[in-house]
Amino acid sequence: QTYFERIKKYDDKVKSFITVTEEKALEQAEKAQGVIDKGEAKALTGIPVAVKDNICTEGVKTTCASKMLENFVPPYNATVMEKLDAENIVMLGKTSMDEFAMGGSTQTSAFAKTKNPYDLDRVPGGSSGGSAAAVAAGLAPVALGTDTGGSIRQPAAFCGVTGIKPTYSRVSRFGLVAFASSLDQIGSIGLDAHDCAILLNEICGYDFHDGTSSKLEVPDFTAKIGESMKGMKIALPKEFYAEGINDEVKAAVLKAAEEYKAMGAELIECSMPSLKYAVPCYYLLACAEAASNLSRYDGIKYGHRTLTADSYEELIIKSRSEGFGEEVKRRILLGNYCLSSGYYDAYYRKAMALRQLIRKEYNDIFEKCDVILTPTTPAVAYSPEMTSDPVQMYQADICTVTVNIAGLPAISTPCGYDSKGMPIGMSVIGRKFDEATIIKTADAYE
Ligand code: GLN
Repeated sequence: QTYFERIKKYDDKVKSFITVTEEKALEQAEKAQGVIDKGEAKALTGIPVAVKDNICTEGVKTTCASKMLENFVPPYNATVMEKLDAENIVMLGKTSMDEFAMGGSTQTSAFAKTKNPYDLDRVPGGSSGGSAAAVAAGLAPVALGTDTGGSIRQPAAFCGVTGIKPTYSRVSRFGLVAFASSLDQIGSIGLDAHDCAILLNEICGYDFHDGTSSKLEVPDFTAKIGESMKGMKIALPKEFYAEGINDEVKAAVLKAAEEYKAMGAELIECSMPSLKYAVPCYYLLACAEAASNLSRYDGIKYGHRTLTADSYEELIIKSRSEGFGEEVKRRILLGNYCLSSGYYDAYYRKAMALRQLIRKEYNDIFEKCDVILTPTTPAVAYSPEMTSDPVQMYQADICTVTVNIAGLPAISTPCGYDSKGMPIGMSVIGRKFDEATIIKTADAYE
């Protein structure tokens, strides 16, 4: 009830939720209380959680912030929701996002253009901007987000909270509305690394319904918290600190690096030459996969259907033209273009080759170090007007996309403020399946 009071009081300004599920939540809370009274509470019993609106929730609208799915009520739960329900969590509602998770500002949402709680004239980042803003504004203690190219880490950085993208395959994608299937991953957003770890603990694990799901055992992600940083090798790839990264951002992250050194860690300078190809590589892969994934929205099976059409073909064209927003259409066009015969070799195949190169460079760095430290974003949160230039928006993803391309885990956590008081985030990137170490590292600085 406390959270719903706060949502009523502040969310007309922040606009972090698309759907608030108060009635259902109070029922869940009562049920959770019963479980607690019986002494059967699990880690998350009774804990309120906000959920990004691209994660299917049975009986609760899941819109992906798109007109295409404005009235879509899933008949089933995503695996993560099944897992959280089994813990008896309390779902507060569904949070806003960029349409189909395409963007970094939450301004392409068809329903709620979320604001940054630190400065309502700036964006909260995206695409999980609703989840990050809700946590930052105290409208939810923790939230689920999704990250295809930075969508958990970047809004966490813009809103001064912590967010983790786990290793690809750690968390089942069953019931997550697909954007780019080889990059998408669900993760958690909270006030600190410890909270993120507690939520992450409960959503991981093998799932028969996701063909890419990992069968590896899931350790307790809080296990290493509090361990010494002594002897830890932290890599700083120089390309992440080069031109294009705002001076105040760079200074804040380097200051954190020095503090790690003071805690006994060793700083290792290294290089990741392929970073200059990261943005084009990501956008080719992500758009190609999106074009394929979004072909299911034909106005026939489910989703928006146009009111009048004279033919089958016109029905599909009009439904898609009306249902999708500008950015989604741009990406479908880009994706189909780079997959077309005659262009496939020049674009898609090259992007796949670059993907191997980026993976290799990460492997080389991890031969010599335990974690990598980078800024999460080249600059702090900006004003909504800035989002009008797509190329500029794509460039701003430079620090986050390689992690998804390589399938690695990474956590963004606050490391200071700029001169205007806006939060700055740093990212700790880890080896595959080594979430515990990046969580420990982030926690040590918090
Ligand atoms: N900003 C990136 C994009 O627009 C990342 C999105 C995401 O991670 N979902 O593709």
